[in-house]
Amino acid sequence: MRCPYCGSLDTQVKDSRPTDDSSAIRRRRVCPDCGGRFTTFERVQLRDLIVVKKSGRRVAFDRDKLMRSLGVALRKRPVDPDRVERMVNGVVRQLESEGESEIPSARIGELIMQGLKSLDDVAYVRFASVYRDFREARDFSSVIDELNTDEDEPPPKPRAKAPGKV
Ligand SMILES: [Zn+2]
Repeated sequence: MRCPYCGSLDTQVKDSRPTDDSSAIRRRRVCPDCGGRFTTFERVQLRDLIVVKKSGRRVAFDRDKLMRSLGVALRKRPVDPDRVERMVNGVVRQLESEGESEIPSARIGELIMQGLKSLDDVAYVRFASVYRDFREARDFSSVIDELNTDEDEPPPKPRAKAPGKV
């Protein structure tokens, strides 16, 4: 694995252990040339995913990039990073198992939003505001309405008519 600091190819694994949920192996690495330390993750990948952007451009799915945008949405929010990791694992696994190797970016955004909704309302609104490119205040309020709808009690069933006597 090439050193991200100096480009040396001679890096060494110092420590290797599964993540808490055992979905990945985390390896701590050190570069003997520059002393740089970094971490790599080994994960199951069932298939290569290609993201089709709104512009039609195709790029390889970049999990790190997704994690960075989630990091922005979750900044200073009290959410356990392991839950975020598991949510993303679930989304990726779902995308991999849908059978399409080209995934519209909108599909990924919607799945991530669904996942965020159950993790943290504030992060959900933040992510939605970027992802859906809000321009007006009412865009925010419609997303907040979506949240409230989900949290409300189910509407009461219409009162059953008393069964007619036979
Ligand atoms: Zn180095």
